Amino acid sequence: MIKLHDKYFRPYLTEQEILAAVKKIAGQIAEDYKNETPVFIGVLNGSFMFVADLLKEYQHNCEVSFVRLSSYSGLSSTGIVETLIDVSDTIEGRSVIILEDVIDTGRTVKQLVHMFSNSNVKEFKIATLFYKPSVYSGEYNIDYVGIEIPNKFIVGYGLDYNELGRNLREVYQLNQNNMINLVLFGKPGAGKGTQANFLKEQYNLKHISTGDVFRYNIKNGTELGTLAKSFIDKGELVPDEVTINMLKEEVEKNPDASGFIFDGFPRTTAQAEALDNFLSTKDMKIDATIALDANDEVLIQRLLERGKVSGRSDDQDESKIRNRFEEYNQKTAPLQAYYNKQGKFHTVNGIGEIKEITTRLSKVIDTL
Ligand code: AMP
Repeated sequence: MIKLHDKYFRPYLTEQEILAAVKKIAGQIAEDYKNETPVFIGVLNGSFMFVADLLKEYQHNCEVSFVRLSSYSGLSSTGIVETLIDVSDTIEGRSVIILEDVIDTGRTVKQLVHMFSNSNVKEFKIATLFYKPSVYSGEYNIDYVGIEIPNKFIVGYGLDYNELGRNLREVYQLNQNNMINLVLFGKPGAGKGTQANFLKEQYNLKHISTGDVFRYNIKNGTELGTLAKSFIDKGELVPDEVTINMLKEEVEKNPDASGFIFDGFPRTTAQAEALDNFLSTKDMKIDATIALDANDEVLIQRLLERGKVSGRSDDQDESKIRNRFEEYNQKTAPLQAYYNKQGKFHTVNGIGEIKEITTRLSKVIDTL
């Protein structure tokens, strides 16, 4: 086991296994391109070792260049900022082979395809050393694949965790045994968001509030925002498929989190099942679902108060609030039985001082 920053990683692929995969790709490309001079384009930073070793194995004429794409993530992530360096105009009429260290969801691939779509290259191929088939969108064909791997966070051989680990000759996998994943459960106004903000600091967790992500999208006028608004404004739930996909993306954006607090998700049985299935593909699980209990009349008063300052349209009208409770009773309340069956359901009293309630939640979390 090795430690990088605050996390532990265990050995996953040896140097020998990696070099064998690199050699395999070099051989396949040589078969296809030995009679011309292809231009290899490495995607920085992660691919530098792969490119170096591949070129050592490639025994025919070739040229090499690099591009760099930087992505930013978080609640607001909208994609990738592209910067193109050192790819000269001479790629026109040439066969270009992109060399990627790892392909997971395919967001980078999409951006690369977009970048090169205006250039008049003869052929455009994609080679990746590591490939995560379980999360790849499948939008473009990947021409050369070194090793298929599960959807777990890896470091080494050029790949980093917050810039550390690139110099390792082997590949390591994040050790997720001590992860904590929580669902905060309860009616609108129960204090899930407020408490999540304290718990995320205390336990170093990533807080995902589907309501916040929707509101962010509405504020920024995205397609998702426009769709969600039509439901939120009426106090109805946004359709499962949309919400589930969005949630998965939020989790994927934080591959190195020590755990998650899911706030406002799941809200239906289909969402809970999708969450369990999704987490299991990543060797993760929900450890506890903790409900904040409070009665409707207290909650309605809280929400109306919140509506005066937050400007949330769904908090300002008692009939919309009652509709949200109705949605909760019909669609969300059955999740208590779902998590009870798994022995994961806990309830704490959600009425009292904010600090007192945080202490009640911590008591449950500390027993996990
Ligand atoms: P919240 O901030 O959690 O109260 O969510 C505000 C609104 O966003 C809800 O009333 C729903 O319309 C929508 N929403 C948030 N999370 C979900 C979810 N998991 N499933 C469906 N709709 C959701």
